[in-house]
Amino acid sequence: GRPLVSVLPGLDLGAVPDGQAELGIAGGGYAELRLQIGVAPIRAGRGAAQGVVLTLHDVTRERAAQQTLLEVQRRLEEANRELERVAHTDMLTGLANRRLLLARLDMEFSRARRHGTPLALLLIDLDRFKQVNDTRGHLVGDAVLRATGAELRALTRPEDIPARYGGEELALLLTDTGADGARTAALRVWQHLRSLEHEDPAAGSTFRVSCCIGVALLDPTDSEANDLIARADAALYAAKADGRDCVMLNLDGVMEREPQAVIEAAVA
Ligand code: GH3
Ligand code: MG
Ligand code: MG
Repeated sequence: GRPLVSVLPGLDLGAVPDGQAELGIAGGGYAELRLQIGVAPIRAGRGAAQGVVLTLHDVTRERAAQQTLLEVQRRLEEANRELERVAHTDMLTGLANRRLLLARLDMEFSRARRHGTPLALLLIDLDRFKQVNDTRGHLVGDAVLRATGAELRALTRPEDIPARYGGEELALLLTDTGADGARTAALRVWQHLRSLEHEDPAAGSTFRVSCCIGVALLDPTDSEANDLIARADAALYAAKADGRDCVMLNLDGVMEREPQAVIEAAVA
C-alpha cells in the first residue's frame, strides 16, 4: 500500500526504458539489489498509454552465485595453467623439460615437412660432468646446470626451443634453420658455454666446463622425429669419442667436426 519509490528509494524509474532492463540499486536500508525490471505500457487501442505494468524480479542471489561461480572458474583455470606449466618445466633450470621438447619436436617436425622448411636439433652434453659432482659436490653441479640453462636461453631466439633433455644434457630445437644456421648457432652456444665461469665456494675459485654439441638436420627420408634425435645423438656420441669439447655435425650421413682443433687455453 505504499508508493514504490518509498519502498525502493534507490529505484529511478526514469532510467528504465520500455521493455526489459536490469538495474542495481542501493539505499533505503537494504544492501545492493539486482532487479530485473519489465515495463509494459497499457494501451486501449492506438491511443496514448494509460498506465504501465511494472514487474520487478529480484535476481540478487542468482547474480551473486554467478559471480562466485565465475571467480571459482577463474581460479581453476589459473591452477590448471600453473599445473600445465609445472608439468612442462624443468624445475632446476626453468627450461622446457623433455616432455615438452618431444611434443614441440613432433609439432615442428610435421610443420617443417608440410612447408618444406628446414629444422635443426642440437643436443648438448657437458664434458666430464660427473667429475664436477664428485670433486666439487652436487650443489655446485646443480649451479652449473642452472647457469648453463640460463645461458642457453639467453642465446636463443624467441621461436627456438631450449630444453633440458636429460640429466646434464640440454637440447636446442631451431625452427626454420638449415645447415649454415645450425653450425653458426652450435658454435656460438659451444663457445659461450665453455667460457662460462662457475664458482666453487668451498675452493674459493672459479672453473669452466666444456661441452659437446651434436647437430642434426631434418632429412626428407625421416619418417618420425625420433630419426632426427637419433642422428643428433650419434653426432654427440662421435663428439665424445673424438676427444670432447667440440661441435659435431651429422650431415647427410657424414660427421663433420667444428672447430677442427680446440684452443686448449680456453679450457680450464
Ligand atoms: P662425458 O664427458 O662422457 O659426458 O662424461 P660425464 O661425466 O659428463 O657423463 P655421464 O653421463 O657419465 O655423467 C653425467 C652426470 O651428470 C652423472 C650425474 O651425476 C650428473 N647429473 C645428472 N643430473 C644431474 C643434476 O640434476 N644435478 C647434478 N648435480 N648432477 C647431475
Ligand atoms: Mg650425459
Ligand atoms: Mg656429460
